[in-house]
Amino acid sequence: MSESDISQRAHALLQRFYGYRTFRPGQLEIIEAVASGRDAVVLMPTGGGKSICYQIPALLSDGCTVVVSPLIALMQDQTQALIQNGVPAAAIHSNQSETYNREVIEGVFAGKIKLLYISPERLLTDIERWSQSMPVRLFAIDEAHCISQWGHDFRPDYTSLWKLKELRPDVPVIALTATADRLTRDDIARQLRLRDPFCWTGSFDRPNISLRAYPNPGRAKRADYIQHLVRKYPNDSGIAYSLSRKATEELDAVLRARGIRSVCYHAGMSADQRDKAQRAFVNGSVQVVCATVAFGMGIDKSNIRWVVHNNMPANIESYYQEIGRAGRDGMPAEAVLFHSFADTMVLRNFADESGRQAVNLEKLNRMESYAHARVCRRRILLSYFSEESDCDCGNCDICLDPPHRFDGTITAQKALSAVMRTSSQIGVFTLTDILRGSSRAEIRNLGYDKIKTYGVGSDLSREEWLDYISQMIQLGVFEVDYDRGNRLSVTPYGMKILRGQAQFELSRYQPRQYSRKATKTKENAPAKSPTEQLFEQLKSIRLEVARKEGLPPYLVFSDATLMDMASKKPTSIEEMMNVSGVGEKKGVRFGRRFLLAIRKFEGLTAATPQGSSLKETLLLVNAGTGLGEIASLKKVSLETIKGHIAKLIDEGLITTFGQFISRGEYETIMKTLADNPDNAYDLLKEAGFTSGTIAIARAIHRYNNPG
Ligand code: ADP
Ligand code: ZN
Repeated sequence: MSESDISQRAHALLQRFYGYRTFRPGQLEIIEAVASGRDAVVLMPTGGGKSICYQIPALLSDGCTVVVSPLIALMQDQTQALIQNGVPAAAIHSNQSETYNREVIEGVFAGKIKLLYISPERLLTDIERWSQSMPVRLFAIDEAHCISQWGHDFRPDYTSLWKLKELRPDVPVIALTATADRLTRDDIARQLRLRDPFCWTGSFDRPNISLRAYPNPGRAKRADYIQHLVRKYPNDSGIAYSLSRKATEELDAVLRARGIRSVCYHAGMSADQRDKAQRAFVNGSVQVVCATVAFGMGIDKSNIRWVVHNNMPANIESYYQEIGRAGRDGMPAEAVLFHSFADTMVLRNFADESGRQAVNLEKLNRMESYAHARVCRRRILLSYFSEESDCDCGNCDICLDPPHRFDGTITAQKALSAVMRTSSQIGVFTLTDILRGSSRAEIRNLGYDKIKTYGVGSDLSREEWLDYISQMIQLGVFEVDYDRGNRLSVTPYGMKILRGQAQFELSRYQPRQYSRKATKTKENAPAKSPTEQLFEQLKSIRLEVARKEGLPPYLVFSDATLMDMASKKPTSIEEMMNVSGVGEKKGVRFGRRFLLAIRKFEGLTAATPQGSSLKETLLLVNAGTGLGEIASLKKVSLETIKGHIAKLIDEGLITTFGQFISRGEYETIMKTLADNPDNAYDLLKEAGFTSGTIAIARAIHRYNNPG
């Protein structure tokens, strides 16, 4: 196959099975490389569109593509999505019976399955048995960073995957991951023993996700903020991550007490409970999952609108991957990070005990700089992934509400002096208490109420002081001694400020009044545009369809697809097929229910237009819809549809006939017509042939005997 052939066929498959017209950057290049037998390493962010990079090559080739995946949930999700799109896919794993697994393998050998999902250990034991005889054309290694010990999710099972190249040197391997750093990428290629792989690194920018960070919020504020997000996106869902199991349970309880539909998810729950929670989240019956980071891998839910971190994550890679679960459909989404000194202390301890102290502490430092940033947050993230960006993003809290700077020298001197006067024996919280003149017993017992700086900062709130002190730490005025109870010590730079030898700028503390603002925006919310109104209606239809079909809503259509539908407002099946994300299979299966709603919304009669459109019939035929079903979809008689078929045959648009008439029937009709020029129609009708069937037979005759 030449490259232009591949491109043309790949585009046709994209439209037919996925309903998309164009490839995203990189997809076609990757498909072309793999389809022509080359190995590939693909780095794309979550939601970037990695699956299509191996699924279309699978559809292009005659054999089977074997996809290695680390989690059963991930396999189930992907196979379900493929089947909904009309692609024969299956998985082998321990949650289903061995009899079923055997049937799947037989299906692969019989050429009935295009994509087979399997775990690494299972593949390696099975492949030695199947060896050469298995009709594999491609190995796809999903979540390939699991192979690297330098990555954040190492899985020992992945390290033996190099054997694939030894066992089947003829089969190309594509490795895919959302982890961005180059070390991991090179490690993947080396460990899998890929030969001159085609490497693609996609942009990790996710401009639709807005970024915000709030230092030192109290518990109530975090819950308020989540409540605000739930109200803002009443039909969608979000994830609230916490560091500890206990914290997820507490938050879950608080949210439920406020009437929010929420569940909890962490590794301390039984597999059964976790499964149940995940399903409730995926099928939309709960709006919030309060989870530890155990939750999320393999969640391919496109209408997650927000991700809140109640604690600072340990590194930027994990953070980016976790927030990347929001807004996978490309529509606006929000990432909110709450962080505090307490988080830093906990994470320092983790890092110290991790066995890779230096690396992990450095990663934590980078995460902290993000959290405390006073410059565009997206630029910090992108530069972490070595991506250049030369302008501010306009969609983070810093860009939207730039900090006001002021001369903070005196403020800093107050704090510096207090630390000096306690001989560097105190941490952040005690320092704040001294500055604010707290009468806490411990302060008095240690005599801190006697020092000169006691109470000199009582004009500022506790939140203000915490914010300014954390800026001072970030800017190198104080050092935190994590080995000695997180005590603060003054750096040489701090000494200069204290002595008045250096000026010092602070960013003005801005209290964020989310809850009040939230209710305000609700009251003054502008009236929804017609497109938005229709979008909401289509969403509720999606929910009905999903319930009826027992599918998670996003597998019916994604939000992006419903939005495109709401703006294009198709009123016939043919127009429906032009909506991005409506492939043939889903268009036929679900399209009508959405069409009815749109027609009603547009003030048209509910019935789809009288079926004059031949093309529409052709589309349905090509999608494998039976003639009777087409007639009932279009609300016309079966005879009319048969008339369409005859015309389509005349126009050369239909060239295989077996599904409309058998060879025997065709011959009977033609013979009767030839032998009885006068009363052939009567005879044929007596024999049970309708005029539509006769028209089809005559059209086939003309097709076979042109001129
Ligand atoms: P990843 O595996 O990289 O996280 P997916 O393969 O699940 O991402 O794709 C994310 C979303 O983007 C899915 O809803 C998918 O259907 C959609 N998508 C992928 N490729 C395209 C494309 N070329 N045009 C439009 N949408 C696409
Ligand atoms: Zn920005």
